[in-house]
Amino acid sequence: MHKPYYISASTIIGENENHDHCSLLVEHGKISKVASTPTENILNIDLPGATILPGLIDLHIHGRDGCDVMDGDINSLNIISSSLAKHGVTGFLATTVTSSWDKTIKALNVIGQAANSKMSGATVLGGYSEGLFFTKDHKGAHDDNFFMELTIERVDAMIAAAQGALKVIALAPEKENAVKVTRHITDQNIKVMLGHTNATYQETTEALEAGACGGVHVFNGMRGIHHREPGCTGAVLIKDCSVEVIADGVHLHPAILELISRLKSVEKINLISDCINAGGMPDGKYKLGELQVDVKKGIARTKEGSLAGSTLTLEKAVINMAKMANIELRDAVHMASFSPAHFLNIEKTKGSIKEGKDADLCVVDNNGEVLMTIIEGEIVYSKNNDLKN
Ligand SMILES: [Zn+2]
Repeated sequence: MHKPYYISASTIIGENENHDHCSLLVEHGKISKVASTPTENILNIDLPGATILPGLIDLHIHGRDGCDVMDGDINSLNIISSSLAKHGVTGFLATTVTSSWDKTIKALNVIGQAANSKMSGATVLGGYSEGLFFTKDHKGAHDDNFFMELTIERVDAMIAAAQGALKVIALAPEKENAVKVTRHITDQNIKVMLGHTNATYQETTEALEAGACGGVHVFNGMRGIHHREPGCTGAVLIKDCSVEVIADGVHLHPAILELISRLKSVEKINLISDCINAGGMPDGKYKLGELQVDVKKGIARTKEGSLAGSTLTLEKAVINMAKMANIELRDAVHMASFSPAHFLNIEKTKGSIKEGKDADLCVVDNNGEVLMTIIEGEIVYSKNNDLKN
């Protein structure tokens, strides 16, 4: 849509406040004005009863609709991208899982291509390496046969394969060389996240001091809190760093969601889906990396019974977080938009509704169902097809 247009709704969740019965003027892909009434001679997409949220950003997602980032195929990434757009997601980090070295490099290479291409739905904001450099105790759905030593040469090969698109490397801080390699990675402006780990409080603290910036799906896949050994979980909760949260009501008890939101500021909580290829598909048997997973009632588990990612969508995670953690909806929304944008250092242009920012929007109805998704002013998904240009 190249011509300017207004989009109007009952509520707009702005960066600093909510606006009731308000409109956004979208011009040249940006939000050029937040206005109470649209100008008459400009098209107005009026969605009474709806709420306009900033476009959601999923920092940690493995797949959807039968496709997996590990397919190493740009067509798979395109299908994931379209599927995410239906759920209000405007940008995501394509996330790998532990597999062979060759498959990992191929997947990172394809992520690099996708990050430089226009996708059919949500934008590939980059890649997230979740794999290889973990330890056995909390491996979750990662095949430990492929775990390897953490070395500067290996991370450099991964960074090169992704051609500038790799944004996050996850690792277990108790691995040998963790501090040295963490410094090396963060020196290149790539984030280190700590996960699938049995690290102690002390080991985690050392990695955070070396530049690591938080915990991968906090509580899940890491040593839990003991009152004399707070572990990785205790460290990432108490230190000034980010945590990823899977708010599907399965991975974390509602009381834990509330506890996290009391300990961490909104900007330090990133709601993620951790969705796998079974997302958007019927229950059944699927593969995550090299492991078989069984999905029952939307819950994915390995044959050992470990949770294996999720089938969650981010717009549901937002509603769950607001309800289960007893927080304001606007805070939960920002945990899936502003916080991840801030994490990726793109908050000047993305992550919230503010004049001058990109028109990345997610419109939902009263039940939280996505009606429309807009990326840089372009309607990429509309439940009512006529509105899509
Ligand atoms: Zn994981």
